[in-house]
Amino acid sequence: MYYVLLGPPGVGKGTQAQLLVKKLGIPQISTGDMLRAEVKQKTPLGKRVRQILEKGELVSDDLMLKIVEERLKKPDCTRGFILDGFPRTIPQAEGLKGILQKLNGITLRVVEISVPDEEIVARLTNRRICSQCQKVYNLLLAAPKVAGICDECGGALIQRKDDREDVIKNRLMVYRKQTKPLIEYYKKEGVYQAVNGLQPIETVCRQILQMHGMNGLKASG
Ligand code: AMP
Repeated sequence: MYYVLLGPPGVGKGTQAQLLVKKLGIPQISTGDMLRAEVKQKTPLGKRVRQILEKGELVSDDLMLKIVEERLKKPDCTRGFILDGFPRTIPQAEGLKGILQKLNGITLRVVEISVPDEEIVARLTNRRICSQCQKVYNLLLAAPKVAGICDECGGALIQRKDDREDVIKNRLMVYRKQTKPLIEYYKKEGVYQAVNGLQPIETVCRQILQMHGMNGLKASG
C-alpha cells in the first residue's frame, strides 16, 4: 500500500490522503504540510522556502528528494505510505524510484484524481485548513459544523496564503508544465490509474481502495 496521489492543487489529494490514513493506518506524507510546518516554526529550511511557497513556485528537486528520503526511512513507513504532493517533477519521480529501490523494491500505486479546471479554482478559493491538525475543509462541499472551527480538534480554520486567486493561477500553470508530464511517466511505468474527483468524497476513496490489485509495479522492475 504505497500510494502516490497525483493531480493539480485543489483536486482533493489531501482530503483523500486523510481518509486513507484512517482506513489503512499508514501515514500521509504531504510535502506541502511538511514545508508549511517549517515555515511556521521559522526554521532555517522554513526561511529558505517561505517565499517560494507564497508564490506557488516549486522548491528544488534536490532539497525535496532529501526531505522525502529522510521521511520514508522512518519506521512508520514500512507498511505503506500515501505521498500527497510528491513527486511533482520528472526528476523527483526518478529520484523516488531510486529511493524505493534502496528500500527493498516497494510497489507503487499511482492514482490521479481528475477534476475539470473550472472546478479547481472554485475549490481552492473555498478551501480552509485547520491551523492545528491540518484537516481540510471546503466552505461549499465539506463545511465545518461551526464556522471557522475545526470539527476534530477545535483549532482555528485558516486560508492558505497560496489559495488566493492570483497565486492559484500560477500554481495551476506550474502544475501543467512541471507535474502533468508525470501522468505519461507513470503510464509508461504501468502503475497509473485515474479516479473521477467530481464524485462524493467517500465514493472517490472507495474507488481508490478498490484499485487494489496486481497492477502495481515493483520499483525494481
Ligand atoms: P501543496 O500543499 O502540495 O499544494 O504544496 C504547497 C507548496 O509547497 C507548493 O506550491 C510548493 O511551493 C511546495 N511543494 C510541496 N511539495 C513540493 C514538491 N514535491 N516539490 C516542490 N515543491 C513542493
